Order: sequence, then C-alpha cells, then structure tokens
Amino acid sequence: MADPRRRIPRTDVLLADPRLADAVRRLGTPLVKAAITAAQDRARAGEIDHELITDHVVAALPATASALRRVVNATGVLVHTNLGRAPLSPAALDAVVAAGGTTDVEFDLTTGQRARRGRGALAALADAVPDAEAVHVVNNNAAALLLCAMTFAQGGEARRNEIVISKGELVEIGDGFRIPELLAATGARLREVGTTNRTSLADYAAAVGAETGFVLKVHPSNFQVTGFTSAPGVAELAGLGVPVIADIGSGLLRPDPLLPDEPDATTLLRAGAALVTASGDKLLGGPQAGLLLGRHDLVEAARRHPAARALRVGKLTMAALEATLRGPAPPVHVALHADPAAVRARVASLVAGLAGLGVDATAVDSVAVVGGGGAPGVELPSAAVSLPPEYAVRLRTGEPPVVGRVERGRCLLDLRTVATDDDRVLLDAVARCTS
Ligand SMILES: *Cc1c(COP(=O)(O)O)cnc(C)c1O
Repeated sequence: MADPRRRIPRTDVLLADPRLADAVRRLGTPLVKAAITAAQDRARAGEIDHELITDHVVAALPATASALRRVVNATGVLVHTNLGRAPLSPAALDAVVAAGGTTDVEFDLTTGQRARRGRGALAALADAVPDAEAVHVVNNNAAALLLCAMTFAQGGEARRNEIVISKGELVEIGDGFRIPELLAATGARLREVGTTNRTSLADYAAAVGAETGFVLKVHPSNFQVTGFTSAPGVAELAGLGVPVIADIGSGLLRPDPLLPDEPDATTLLRAGAALVTASGDKLLGGPQAGLLLGRHDLVEAARRHPAARALRVGKLTMAALEATLRGPAPPVHVALHADPAAVRARVASLVAGLAGLGVDATAVDSVAVVGGGGAPGVELPSAAVSLPPEYAVRLRTGEPPVVGRVERGRCLLDLRTVATDDDRVLLDAVARCTS
C-alpha cells in the first residue's frame, strides 16, 4: 500500500493554484510559503487531509503582510494602551491609505515648489484651537516634552536650565515611563517644589529665578489624589513671569461636559499657558502624535531646534491627524458620547441572537472607563453581553480576535467600545466559539 504521505502536493504545485498565486501577489512569497510548509507538516502528521491542503493554507493565510492583527475591543476601556490606544476613524484610515503612496506632503502642486511639510494637518490643528498662536506636531507627547526641555531649559547664554515642577506632578505614565526621568535625560535640572498632596503658589514663586527655563504643569492623567490637596492653577502660575508649559496628556482640545476634571488645550491657553502639550492618540482619537500649541515665538523656537528633525512625524501621521480633526467624530469620541440606552439595546439584540444559537448569554449592566488615556475615576454607564468564562480565551484566539474582560467568573463583552458596525462581527465570532 502506498504511503499516503507521499501524496502530499509539492510546494510548486500548490503555488500554481490560482488562490495561492493570488495570495502571493497580495502577501508576497515568503508568507505564503510559510503557510504551505505548515500545512504540509500537518498533512504529514495526519492532522489534515492532504486533498484539502490548499483550503487549509488559504484559511491560515494572514489578512495582511503585517503580523499586527485587527482586534475587536470589547473591554469597555475606551483608550486601551495594549490595543493601540485610539482606533482611527474610517476617514482617517482612508487618508492614511491615500498618503501612503506618492503624495504632496512637502510640495505645492500649483506652483511646483517645495511647500511646508504637513501644512494641511497643521492648519487643521490651528483651526481646532484658535487660541493657539502657533502649532507643531511631533512623534508623541513624550517627544513634545523632550523638545520643550531641550529648547527652553538647556542653559545657553541666559543659563536657564531649570524646570520648576510640583512634587505632586512627578508622574509615571505607564510601562516605566516617568516624566521626570525623561526631562532629566536632556540635561535640564528639575527644581521640585511643594509636596505630594499640596503645593502653593508661594512654593513656585520661591523657586522661580534667573535659572528658570519654564514652569511645567503635568496633568496626573492616570491617578487621583484626593483629600487634603491643593495646587495653583495655570492662571496663577502665569503671573510668575516665566513661561508655563502645561502637559494635558489626553489631547482634549476644548472642554467636554462629560469629563469636567479633564484639562483641555483651549481653556489652559486662555488661562495663560505659554505652551500646551498633548497626545494625539488618547481622547483626541487620532494617530500617535505629540501636539505643541501656544505662543508663536516658543513654537518656532522648538520647531527650529536641531533635534526637532529627529522627533518629526511621517506623512501617514499627518494625514491621519488632519482627517481626525476635519472629518467625522473618531471612534473614541463616539464611544465616549454613546447613549447608554442605545448600548443596552444593542446588547439585548445580540443576546437575543445568541440565545437563538443556544449560547448561554445574558445582558448585564457594565461600567466603561476612558483608560490610560485620561479621566481617572470617570465611570461611563454601559452594557455588556455576559458569557461563560471559557469564551474569553476562545474569543481572544479566534479570527478576528475579540478581547473582553473577565469579571465575577463571567466573560463580559462591553459594547460601548465596539463600533455598531461590528455587532455582526461579534455575533459571528461568539457563534464560531460555540460550535
Ligand atoms: C500619556 C501622557 C504622556 C505621554 O504621552 P505619549 O503620547 O504616550 O508620549 C505624557 N503626559 C501625560 C500627562 C500623559 O497622560
């Protein structure tokens, strides 16, 4: 009897299949060959039928030539750091695709001359914050702070190399990233004032002097100190006669009534901040970026610093940022402002659909949060599909992966962080995990 393993099709024969030839055009030869080798190994081991090997290869092919996978965020955490923070809006995704080719990022098509890099995104940001005399965009908020420290606290002729900062604002953002260490790495000196819970205007005033580069206000975006606390606001600090730079973190450009304690760029500029720095991929809902907004002379000085080049953003970021600012509300904004009743109705209809498939699913109330992106302590009423706990792993390892959260022995899928368009995707994913 012939060894069935000898009938396993050769790689070149498999590659000639139109479906795999098409995959090679889309994904390149190495990825397709890797999937073929894996399927041949499984056929040799008797795990799959060698006659269906092409089907297995097609099913195992990645969706794109990148190992990054699209994930459905059903955690109820709006800005989930491990899931890439803000998802881009469809408009921003389209802009990224267009900008990915040859593009006029630094070229004026009317005159045929070189033009200011990313001018569309910069104009959109300036329009979004009319109180800023000038704006600049760098790689992330950490880069914006680095550029401020390098530009305004490096001594020079004026010997201004100190950054005055409250002890209550020496914060760690996440994954070991500490703002004071970042600033100190530039050679600037940190002049710490006040205490963890209370810092007064007099503390700042006593520290400000000929060596002060700027006063830095950092928003504690991922924790709250409550009780016997106080700290002067930007308006009071602005009277000290040195620039006040405010790191707001989240990227709110205007006040949001849902987030009364979250600082925003417009309010702080009006209060007298010389510069505001912020992230692009938290509450703003855009791409990873660092925003610098404020006084024209300071923004220009930062922009012209030799290190600015090393911190600049690519055309894809510029395109996504512009479309986030000019286009329809991005997913983070939609999720933040979702009507809890509408979320509950979506959960009810999903649960009804799943009950029809024999799934042990119930509708439960849930609490969503903004997440690492800001607004600690803010609870957003939400609703979730509650499933037996074993669904957590099954859904996470499915295609597309769905990430929920396990709470009190159940796997919860919070729909506030899921786009309405993805409800069907979720239903199908749970159904696949059930059979
Ligand atoms: C998130 C955050 C940062 C860091 O921003 P990145 O864009 O991740 O570099 C800095 N400061 C504050 C207050 C933040 O919340």
